[in-house]
Amino acid sequence: MSKEELECSFCGRKKAETNLLIAGLDAHICDRCIEQAHGIVVEEALHSTNSELSKELMLKKPKAIKSFLDDYIIGQEYTKKVMSVAVYNHYKRLLQPKSEDDIDIQKSNIIIVGQTGTGKTLLAKTVARMLNVPLAIVDATVLTEAGYVGEDVESILTRLLQAADYNVEKAQHGIVFIDEIDKIARKSDNPSITRDVSGEGVQQALLKLLEGTTVNVPPKGGRKHPDQKFIEVNTENILFIAGGAFDGIERHISKRLNMQAVGFSASKSEDTLDRENLLRYIIPKDLKDFGLIPEIIGRLPVLSYMNPLDRGTLRAILTEPKNAIIKQYKKLFEMDEIDFVITEEALEFIVDQAVEYKLGARGLRSLCEAILTDAMFELPGTDEKKLQVTREYAEQKLNKSTIKKLKAVS
Ligand code: ADP
Repeated sequence: MSKEELECSFCGRKKAETNLLIAGLDAHICDRCIEQAHGIVVEEALHSTNSELSKELMLKKPKAIKSFLDDYIIGQEYTKKVMSVAVYNHYKRLLQPKSEDDIDIQKSNIIIVGQTGTGKTLLAKTVARMLNVPLAIVDATVLTEAGYVGEDVESILTRLLQAADYNVEKAQHGIVFIDEIDKIARKSDNPSITRDVSGEGVQQALLKLLEGTTVNVPPKGGRKHPDQKFIEVNTENILFIAGGAFDGIERHISKRLNMQAVGFSASKSEDTLDRENLLRYIIPKDLKDFGLIPEIIGRLPVLSYMNPLDRGTLRAILTEPKNAIIKQYKKLFEMDEIDFVITEEALEFIVDQAVEYKLGARGLRSLCEAILTDAMFELPGTDEKKLQVTREYAEQKLNKSTIKKLKAVS
């Protein structure tokens, strides 16, 4: 066969009619057919991801999701329940066939209000792990409006892409946890004429992402390489979970409750109000009074709160979750064939310290580290096969450790 007679074995186009004709063993394929075939491959892959997703997700009903969360997160019953339903509905929404009726299920993005260290990030991480979807954790404080120093809102999606190993399809079903959302609240109730670089402007920029849009994402983030290729990411099926401490929001809640109480039966609501934990009465209006714009609140329709961690919870966090801190140390010592035992009094002592110095759950780990570092350094390689940590032992180790500095900082 002469060169001119070569043709695509798939569509029959002559070589002259193609841009490129690639030769195989007994056949040829032209650029157009390659492109078409590629499209089919992508389509198929999408299809199978979707059905895999459905298999994996639909197995878990809200109660099963909650019980998974129970394994890792102590207490916070209300939020775990709300979260289970929101996550279930979110993925139901994803899996619904294109609807013939006009009922469009809205996204169930979530906002969780609660002090730092109460488990907001842990919740997001646990949900992502359960669903086996990529998770990006971003800090709202670094976000600024496009054009200002700081990170563009799009950088959130860069993180998600990275978490998904640049698999766009996976990223589009991922979860984004936006921490410290309260820090981008408008500082005063009057929208001022001067630009509010880190506040309302960022909220406006976030809006689009939250409701679902297609964004050109710089794969490596930043604006330093203007000629880098963008990746298109659609945020429609990304679940956003926002968290924040909202320091001082109790004032707004209490004001609102008092106003209601004046109108209704004041004495009765006084009796039943849990003054210690006003967050449990939070409603979207309080977020607005705090400085979130109504549009943002509307796009984070599921609102929940975290309880402050009391002694009992802190004590439970030490030993009960599936990957509890103490279990982790036990495993570490076990690898050196050392039997690690810690007495109840020592555990109580650790909790006391965490409470006394307001270190919260995060402090538990630093405290354990301070108490156990010596042993982890000394014991491996010796004949010691047992480590018994008593209250005295813990106290002694802590006294000579740098944790005192930690206390000073807190
Ligand atoms: P937040 O995001 O609310 O600031 P984190 O989720 O980062 O708090 O919590 C910090 C750490 O404290 C977690 O990694 C976890 O070890 C522990 N922790 C906090 N709350 C809980 C909880 N309710 N159950 C189990 N562990 C918790």
